[in-house]
Amino acid sequence: MEREKEIDRCPNCGWTSMEESGGRDHCPNCLCGIHREDVGYGECGGTLEPVSVWIKEDDCWEIIQRCRLCGKMTASAVADDDNRIKLLSVASKPLSFPPFPIEKLEELTRIMGGSGELEKSTTGGHQNEQRK
Ligand SMILES: [Zn+2]
Ligand SMILES: [Zn+2]
Repeated sequence: MEREKEIDRCPNCGWTSMEESGGRDHCPNCLCGIHREDVGYGECGGTLEPVSVWIKEDDCWEIIQRCRLCGKMTASAVADDDNRIKLLSVASKPLSFPPFPIEKLEELTRIMGGSGELEKSTTGGHQNEQRK
């Protein structure tokens, strides 16, 4: 029963109502979770930090989390009571810290615009049929 107690307190921000929110696997306040997967020598137990957000085909948002201890990435479905501000800040983080000088952005956009690669995925709907 020790394990039950761990769940209702966020290892990252100390949020205490994780259990009340109905068996969720991440903190509604900071979106961190606990890595409960068996990693060979038992449960990892590391803190899962939110590193990104992605939208599945059915428009469901999922949080991509990375374990601080073992580095494994997992996905966790967004819940209704998750902190929206935190979600947006996680989603926009890569845009605030681009891994290249911002003045190169214009050049990059021009290069990508020429290839048309970005357009393909947004026309949507027919990708699966083409594959068959
Ligand atoms: Zn938290
Ligand atoms: Zn881990």
